Amino acid sequence: MRFALFSVLVAVVTALGLVAPAGAAREIDPRPSTEELARRLFDLQLRSGGEVRVAPIGASNQGRPVWSARVGHGPQRLLFVTQQHGDEPLGTPAAVEFLREVGVGNDPHQRWWRDQVTVDVVVRANPDGHEHDWRYNYDPDADPEFGEAGKGYDINRYHDPAVAPQDNPATEAGLIQRHYAEFRPHIAVDYHMQGRYVGGDGREITASLMWPTTPGVAAEPLNLAKQVSVVARTAMDAGGANVSQYPGGDYQGIARNAYGLLGSGSVLIELSDMGPDHEQFQIASALASMHAISNATADGSLRNTDPAEADTIPPRGEPLTS
Ligand SMILES: [Zn+2]
Repeated sequence: MRFALFSVLVAVVTALGLVAPAGAAREIDPRPSTEELARRLFDLQLRSGGEVRVAPIGASNQGRPVWSARVGHGPQRLLFVTQQHGDEPLGTPAAVEFLREVGVGNDPHQRWWRDQVTVDVVVRANPDGHEHDWRYNYDPDADPEFGEAGKGYDINRYHDPAVAPQDNPATEAGLIQRHYAEFRPHIAVDYHMQGRYVGGDGREITASLMWPTTPGVAAEPLNLAKQVSVVARTAMDAGGANVSQYPGGDYQGIARNAYGLLGSGSVLIELSDMGPDHEQFQIASALASMHAISNATADGSLRNTDPAEADTIPPRGEPLTS
């Protein structure tokens, strides 16, 4: 009850425009605490009149809920995952803003969009890692093949389709595997962050992306992943980004590869960690990719995108040293 009253209060304050100073661009909190994140998601559920549906897909090793927020009821299903690596935060606030923009309100475009697609976001897949401000989950007794003894597992190496969720030693990866199997998305996009790099022309790379590179991914999901990559890159570059390919590995435990093997158009997006002055830009860039991918799916333009264009995205260059 207290929670409901609080949410109504938040809605009223937000509606009155009391959150941001008049005339200032609204700043998005780049690192909401996990408690604050839950408050925001349930506030969206309330303010959207139930168009945004929030539910836990399970709990982290330390008992924090891992949230799914779902919006839309169309036949095309998209899964976005943010923050598998706890210290790569910016996909999460972008996803919250995305959910607000597509879920809260009832204008004709929103209604049309929600009739075409269903977007499910695993918002902050690794809440323990976020709270510890590290890459791994929290499992200090583990001596993992991928991860760090004394800390935990690298969740994004434990999506191998050959490993059943109940046998998955990385708890939160098992949760995502189960959620994926239930939802069966056509498209899956995994948001991460990387260091700083320059491209061949000397301009800084602001983000990198890649489709599945593991052997055995069928032609159709591979083409779809390349189409998603082209649409994301075009939208991000239009907003001032400079997107390259990401030189990722071919191990099938990586989500990008695993969900490609399972038949989704599966893409990794890595925002460069360009420091505090660029965080709002990077959140906006991730947000632009979410809108572009879902809009192009909804209006069918994704399927008319030339997948070969993905191969013309330039490679990532050298690390930036300054
Ligand atoms: Zn990462």
